[in-house]
Amino acid sequence: MTVVTEVHETIRTLRREVCLLHEQLTRYQLVVWTAGNVSARVPGHDLLVIKPSGVSYDELTPENMVVCDLDGRVVEGEHAPSSDTEAQAYVYREMPEVGGVVHTHSTYATAWAARGEPVPCVLTMGADEFGGEIPVGPFAIIGDDSIGRGIVETLRGSRSPAVLMRNHGVFTIGATAKAAVKAAVMCEDVARTVHISRQLGEPLRIDQHHVDALFDRYQNVYGQR
Ligand SMILES: [Zn+2]
Repeated sequence: MTVVTEVHETIRTLRREVCLLHEQLTRYQLVVWTAGNVSARVPGHDLLVIKPSGVSYDELTPENMVVCDLDGRVVEGEHAPSSDTEAQAYVYREMPEVGGVVHTHSTYATAWAARGEPVPCVLTMGADEFGGEIPVGPFAIIGDDSIGRGIVETLRGSRSPAVLMRNHGVFTIGATAKAAVKAAVMCEDVARTVHISRQLGEPLRIDQHHVDALFDRYQNVYGQR
């Protein structure tokens, strides 16, 4: 296969994958209307595949996904890309290990973001997936680099694949788009349970060495090998 055919094949697969992953956002009730999106890096190329802007989830098809370069400019597609493209492109530019990015305003996680409060690590599933608290990023206005910069600055110093952008919502990263979607689902689940726990009293912290052991086991040993 020539290099050109190969990249077209990869993009075709990613269009399908990114389109299908949006079903998980609605399935787990992380989004309403059109506010939330998934993107994937095209490995080996300075490109990403992302949801079209303002198109409802049941109208998404592999064909209407948009391919952009890592400056957020459209390379292939009939639609305008998600308004979060610039922020996500910034993340791909700055974090080469990231293969997927997800953005939602999922209710409980965003309620923590509205208070600017990190979700403390008081559940083993929080230690497993996030390796500690779920951190809060700065307040940032859409339209320049500031959201992307806030995401990268917060996540670089953290084991967490999720950041609660203050007064806004959740951004998650992963080695793949699917991993980033999983982090978004887990982030909402942890935020909800910790919120409910706090209504009843003060949740108990997990000792740091246990957090480390849980994170290490979950990231390296757990699951099907
Ligand atoms: Zn948003």
